[in-house]
Amino acid sequence: MDTLKTEGFDVMGFYYRHNIHPYTECIRRQETLSAYADSINLRVIYQQGYDLEGFLRNAVFREANRCCYCYHDRLKTTALLAKRGKFDYFSTTLLYSKFQQHDLIRSIGESVGKSAGVPFFYKDFRPGWKDGIEKSKQLGMYRQQYCGCIYSEKDRYYKQPSTNKTSRPL
Ligand code: SF4
Repeated sequence: MDTLKTEGFDVMGFYYRHNIHPYTECIRRQETLSAYADSINLRVIYQQGYDLEGFLRNAVFREANRCCYCYHDRLKTTALLAKRGKFDYFSTTLLYSKFQQHDLIRSIGESVGKSAGVPFFYKDFRPGWKDGIEKSKQLGMYRQQYCGCIYSEKDRYYKQPSTNKTSRPL
């Protein structure tokens, strides 16, 4: 937000929900965003419904590549919303994370932007990673401990005795 404001953008948020499990975690993150958005006068569209089943149907049997589906669905939904709302661009907080597949997100964003007819705004927001963490701590915000889906929750907390899996908190 700080970077975009500095560059003169008027930003509206969109909160996508289907990939955040369980539901109580989804609501906790939504409430955190809502309180923050109120404090900085950020308008946010909150996705209606909670299609956990649809998300899992699309991830099952390709769990190892689930992020590709997840990025695509989130970005496509955002692009279509941006197109309908006549926004100049759409983008994603995924570009801020050091734990996500940055180049893949950029490539999917640009592709769905072309299909939807609204440009994808690309920027590498990762240099602000440390500042973002510090700021969220100062504000006493709830901080998510895993990316979102139930698979990532397992990756974060389930420790297999014989393997050394890397956790991906964001
Ligand atoms: S790990 Fe994150 S990006 Fe990947 S499928 Fe799960 S919620 Fe989506």
